Amino acid sequence: MSKAKTLFITGVSSGFGRALAQVALSRGYRVVGTVRNAAAKAEFESLHAENAFAYELDVTHFAAIDAVIANVESHVGPIDVLVNNAGYGHEGVMEESSLDEMRRQFDVNVFGAVAMIKALLPFMRQRRHGHIINITSMGGFITMPGISYYCGSKFALEGISETLSKELAPFNIHVTAVAPGSFRTDWAGRSMVRSARSIADYDALFDPIRQAREEKSGKQLGDPLKAASAMLEVIESSNPPAHLLLGSDALELVRQKIESFSAEIDRWETLTRSTDG
Ligand code: NAP
Repeated sequence: MSKAKTLFITGVSSGFGRALAQVALSRGYRVVGTVRNAAAKAEFESLHAENAFAYELDVTHFAAIDAVIANVESHVGPIDVLVNNAGYGHEGVMEESSLDEMRRQFDVNVFGAVAMIKALLPFMRQRRHGHIINITSMGGFITMPGISYYCGSKFALEGISETLSKELAPFNIHVTAVAPGSFRTDWAGRSMVRSARSIADYDALFDPIRQAREEKSGKQLGDPLKAASAMLEVIESSNPPAHLLLGSDALELVRQKIESFSAEIDRWETLTRSTDG
């Protein structure tokens, strides 16, 4: 790298955010990460004497975001790449899950990411340079019973991301939605919010799903460090994609979804066409 790029990553305490920060630091990048307490800030900054910077920020404290970005821009340096990684999974049958739980899911996974982008765009647009990476999920393409709020939030972020990639292309700002399959992070462990069960009608469908996810936590197929290397390849590309799937599970499941979606479109084509004119 000729000049060290500066990455701003939300949520560097564990999982993908931490892995990306570690790999980027080892390759000479400067990394600014967000954490949610003083101990995590000190721990992150101890990763590298000159190149690791941490800011305390909950991405739903929307009023605080502009000041954090402005502070980084003036005290650390221009941000080349924003990685909207902070997020969590809500698990619960929709009928059993409150609207407050849905609001929180969208506040963190969608509104938080958009607020970060809106704070940074004036700087990137002025420079005519930048790359925004939004960590979505294979759950932004495929769905499973029991995670409707999560899938809804990731579908939303996929849609916003793709739209934004078209709005920002004239300014030489790239946008990539990275959609991982199942990876060994804290996602299905300490970070997951699980709604309490209340309607027995859903036992047969949902209990095995919840149990399987708990049992699989920590044993998922994907390696976050390999995901980090893949993300850096995209960051270093002169022509990055608008969407990138990570993991063979994501690849298979999203391909199946596209095929079945396409077959359903074909099956109903006549009715679809019947409304013209
Ligand atoms: P993780 O290990 O639980 O890491 C999540 C990170 O996000 C933590 O640093 C956490 O901070 C931070 N965070 C959560 N809520 C936040 C908030 N309101 N404000 C600021 N930071 C917040 O899980 P992960 O798998 O790496 O998750 C990262 C992203 O990948 C998420 O968007 C997730 O949906 C997505 N993803 C994960 C998988 C998977 O299989 N692991 C698959 C597809 C997509 P604290 O330590 O303070 O809680």
